[in-house]
Amino acid sequence: MATPLTAARVLAALRAEGVTVVEVGNWRTHNRAGHGAWGPVAGVVVHHTVTSGTAASVAICRDGYAGLPGPLCHGVIDKQGVVHLVGWGRANHAGKGDGDVLAAVAAEKALPTPNENDTDGNVHFYGFECINLGDGKDPWPDAQLEGMVRACAALCRAHGWSAGSVIGHKEWTNTKTDPRGFTMAGFRARVAARLRTAPGTTTPTTPPQEDDVPNPMMLNESNATDVELPPGKWVGLAFADPVLHSGPRLHHTLVHVTLDAAAPDDALVEGRFYLTDTAGKHPSAFQTVTRYGGGGHQFALSGTVPAGKHLRFELRAKTSDATSLTLLHRTATGPYWQTP
Ligand SMILES: [Zn+2]
Repeated sequence: MATPLTAARVLAALRAEGVTVVEVGNWRTHNRAGHGAWGPVAGVVVHHTVTSGTAASVAICRDGYAGLPGPLCHGVIDKQGVVHLVGWGRANHAGKGDGDVLAAVAAEKALPTPNENDTDGNVHFYGFECINLGDGKDPWPDAQLEGMVRACAALCRAHGWSAGSVIGHKEWTNTKTDPRGFTMAGFRARVAARLRTAPGTTTPTTPPQEDDVPNPMMLNESNATDVELPPGKWVGLAFADPVLHSGPRLHHTLVHVTLDAAAPDDALVEGRFYLTDTAGKHPSAFQTVTRYGGGGHQFALSGTVPAGKHLRFELRAKTSDATSLTLLHRTATGPYWQTP
């Protein structure tokens, strides 16, 4: 038996195993503390929910119901194999079971058939609720089974346990039938096979989420050709390409312009980002910002450029004596992310 993993540790272990994780609300601190012990832990209990639909199943497992307060497990595993973490710490999932089974799991020996319910399993087991009606007809998609295998393997690997530490609820107590639709012996064989590979060495069924935010690409454009800004006229700023970003894209963009320092201090310098279609037509979503005088000015915009749209920038100058200003230099820089 072992000290339970921290929330941070289990999250890292799941992700290292290639599991896609959804963190639900305050799962790290949502538990049944004060209603019994949590730990030492001996293994993992696999359940079926007798529900359908991810949102409804996650809500029930997080909140519980009249007579059985949540969390009803640590993670809900949906039909795609995504693990929705709903709680961490003591959870209402295993209930009473056979102390002889606990001893066998702790020793990773063959399981006796449970025939008494004398031991609080919520102390000693992690629990995954897997979305299935439990009627023997609702299918178990391979993506879901693979997510279940990896989730169990992640905990076993973190503790140095074998697949013998993974049991079905029906193996814990003679009052339950879950999980129904596959054999626990076959499931354990699959967990054992998984544990023989290093995490991440086989193609995950869902993309690994090593980081929440992928590394950005960088916009880095500059142009030092002089441009005359006729008074009161918007002038598009050309770099190598007048288009700063083509959607779909998430971006943080900084445009820096340098005007002739001899420009009068009361000269009005307006810059604006705007969207067009890919033909440069139908401009919209202007973001006009005002500066004064010559020298350097910066204009920043963060946001999303939708698919089929281009982001551009233009500049307008006005002087009290209606003379032109000269734009000497401009740069456009910043990180961006292609979005699906
Ligand atoms: Zn159960």
